Amino acid sequence: MEDARTILATHNLCRDFHGFRAVNAVDLAVEEGTVHALVGPNGAGKTTLFNLLTGFLPPTAGGIRFAGTDITRLPPERIARLGVARSFQVTSLFAQMAVREHVELALQARSREKEGRRFWRSERLMRRFEAPAMDVLAEVGLAGLATRPAGSLPYGQKRALELALALALEPRLLLLDEPTAGMGLEDVDRTVALIARIRSGRTVVMVEHNMTVVGTLADTVTVLQRGEVLVTGPYRQVRQDPRVVEAYLGA
Ligand code: ADP
Repeated sequence: MEDARTILATHNLCRDFHGFRAVNAVDLAVEEGTVHALVGPNGAGKTTLFNLLTGFLPPTAGGIRFAGTDITRLPPERIARLGVARSFQVTSLFAQMAVREHVELALQARSREKEGRRFWRSERLMRRFEAPAMDVLAEVGLAGLATRPAGSLPYGQKRALELALALALEPRLLLLDEPTAGMGLEDVDRTVALIARIRSGRTVVMVEHNMTVVGTLADTVTVLQRGEVLVTGPYRQVRQDPRVVEAYLGA
């Protein structure tokens, strides 16, 4: 339930696609400073819920509040400006552009929003973001690869760069879409350690299929099934819930 520590809350959130209800009456309460995992089988509505939270899709009914503001029908850029950043499952990096330059551009975009500056790219301006970009890269363990073209990074490090781009926006709420999807064991471990580090001072909502990852990182788990919340609560409690074992974990 929503209380003073709730940073993100949805109320009766619904989304239809041509008469099909993909998200149905979802009440979600995310507590500030926690990691909140969304799990559920394919088609449960996790991606649609993320799209609603970030303004990429308008809801059919219901409302969303973030940090005391009604964000229900705000466009994505307004929601981002309020401090909600999303890291995508599919990488959207420029293959030829250096790792550091990606972060510099993200930092520049953020400062433009904060200071109302126009966007342009100049040597002098980019130098201003060089050191802060290195700080962000150090946070995700990529400082040593700053001058490499992003396209040359192995998959796990591309995902870490995506995370760096989200962090450059100084989010209060970080939405992670399957942060370990498609990774081998080593990269999964590295990503878990990375999220454990960067969660400090932030709130994280993540869609994640790997229950070991969920168990390691998540304070709270919400299980979605056919667009509805099946159960929500602390990980230990949720994983033992007979409805969850039957519907998802037992599979
Ligand atoms: P998940 O991320 O949990 O796998 P989704 O949110 O992608 O689930 O999908 C939930 C349901 O909504 C699915 O049945 C899917 O086919 C449907 N759906 C999602 N997006 C669209 C869309 N743009 N148009 C029509 N149906 C959609």
